[in-house]
Amino acid sequence: MRLRVLDDGAWISVNDQREVSVSELWRVAATDFCSCDLVDFVVENFQTVGVNGQTVEVVVYGQCIACGATGEIEWLPVGRVIEDEFTVFDQSAVRRTWESRKPEINSG
Ligand SMILES: [Zn+2]
Repeated sequence: MRLRVLDDGAWISVNDQREVSVSELWRVAATDFCSCDLVDFVVENFQTVGVNGQTVEVVVYGQCIACGATGEIEWLPVGRVIEDEFTVFDQSAVRRTWESRKPEINSG
C-alpha cells in the first residue's frame, strides 16, 4: 500500500488516488489539544501519514473552531484499509488519538 502526503499537505493519497483533502471538519476527542471536551477541528494541513494495522492515520495541523486553538494532533485515524481497499471514515465520526499506537510510516 502506498501512502503519501501531496500538494504541501493538502491531500492524502492512497495507492496513488487522492482520497482525503484538507478543510474537512473533524470531531476529535483530544484531551490535551484545547479545553473543549470534543474538538471541532478544521483540518488545515496533513504532516505525515502512516498505517497502524488496518487503520490509516495522520499527523494533522488545524484549528478548533469552538475556541480558536491551533496546533498539531498526532495520529488521528482517517480511514481503514481492508484487502487493499481504502474506506474513508465518516466525517461525523468521533476520532480519538489515545487508542493509537505509533504507526509505521511509509515514506515511499
Ligand atoms: Zn477548543
